[in-house]
Amino acid sequence: MGTCADESFEGGCDCRAVRYRMRSRPLFVHCCHCRWCQRESGSAFALNALIEADRVEVQGTIDLVHTPSCSGKGQEIARCPVCRVALWSHYAGAGRKLSFIRVGTLDDPDAMPPDIHIFTASKQPWVILPEGTPAVAEYYRASERWPAESLARRERLFPGR
Ligand SMILES: [Zn+2]
Ligand SMILES: [Zn+2]
Repeated sequence: MGTCADESFEGGCDCRAVRYRMRSRPLFVHCCHCRWCQRESGSAFALNALIEADRVEVQGTIDLVHTPSCSGKGQEIARCPVCRVALWSHYAGAGRKLSFIRVGTLDDPDAMPPDIHIFTASKQPWVILPEGTPAVAEYYRASERWPAESLARRERLFPGR
């Protein structure tokens, strides 16, 4: 395929006990404006890069902290055991095969702007969304929004879903 597959992106926590490397571009990047993400980030939204967990190389050990989620099914948040910074989540739907990397933990977070804004129904009113980036009041269907290459990768991860 193209040279994009060779790109990689590194990140980690504040204390550097945990470092990680994404071995390719993410499948898709969510900017989530739901109240849960606002609470968990202490901010206005969460920025999550979705990627196959086996494309993320990890140095150091992580703590998987079971945390409630909007769906009611819970999530696991991967945190540094020392400084406790949250690095990624696994949600109940896709489980540990899919990592939602917190884009702000990348060394170059500018590399992953949102592909879509979700749950804008609870967006904080001062946040002005840019023209040209899709935005939905709640969630969406990947089949309608993701690029073909990402859908093919998803099919390999979850055959027949
Ligand atoms: Zn740390
Ligand atoms: Zn959210």
